[in-house]
Amino acid sequence: MYAAPAARSTVDTEKTVYLTFDDGPSARTPEILAVLKKYNVKATFFVVGKTDEQSKQWMRDIVNEGHAIGMHSYTHDYKKIYASPEAFLEDYSKIFNLIYEATGVYPQISRFPGGSINGYNGGSYENIISELVRRGFVYFDWNVATGDAAANSSVPVDTLVRNALSRIDSLRRAVVLMHDATDKKTTVEALSAIIEGYQKAGFTFAPLTPEVVPVVYTYPDFG
Ligand code: ZN
Repeated sequence: MYAAPAARSTVDTEKTVYLTFDDGPSARTPEILAVLKKYNVKATFFVVGKTDEQSKQWMRDIVNEGHAIGMHSYTHDYKKIYASPEAFLEDYSKIFNLIYEATGVYPQISRFPGGSINGYNGGSYENIISELVRRGFVYFDWNVATGDAAANSSVPVDTLVRNALSRIDSLRRAVVLMHDATDKKTTVEALSAIIEGYQKAGFTFAPLTPEVVPVVYTYPDFG
């Protein structure tokens, strides 16, 4: 599992927002894709190891509609993947292979479950990160969290929109964390207002690529 090295030369010349969806694909994926298509906006999906045919089709839909697909681990099992660099890489190899098998695309970007610095990987994250980077992968945290990962509850649409737009005046590059999961219906409902808010503020939407200078400034969020 390696990625072609990328020159991180992309300097955003205009205000740019990167919408990101973790934990999919799910029954929400086609709904999210429909909203993105309506606004002609490209985004990024960090997917996990779902191997049923429908999930693989959703991964293909993501790619075919021009969005970026990245790795978010195969198991999303914090205790397992952060137990050691070896355990992490074994898990990531599986999601790497699954994405390639499903879509024909070798993923080059990733997002750590819980972000790159979280409560589970304190003992191992430096080794994990340095090995991933050595292999040519680029990982992205976020600098805006919608808060849609809040445990077992549906976060109201208004709250999600307010959170998503909370730093719009102070950021030139916004990487917005959202979730693509069966129970995150309000995330789909909030998406149009989030997109319109960034549009009004003059932001351009883009998918994450290995060339984008990573945002690795993380907020606690365990989604
Ligand atoms: Zn996650």
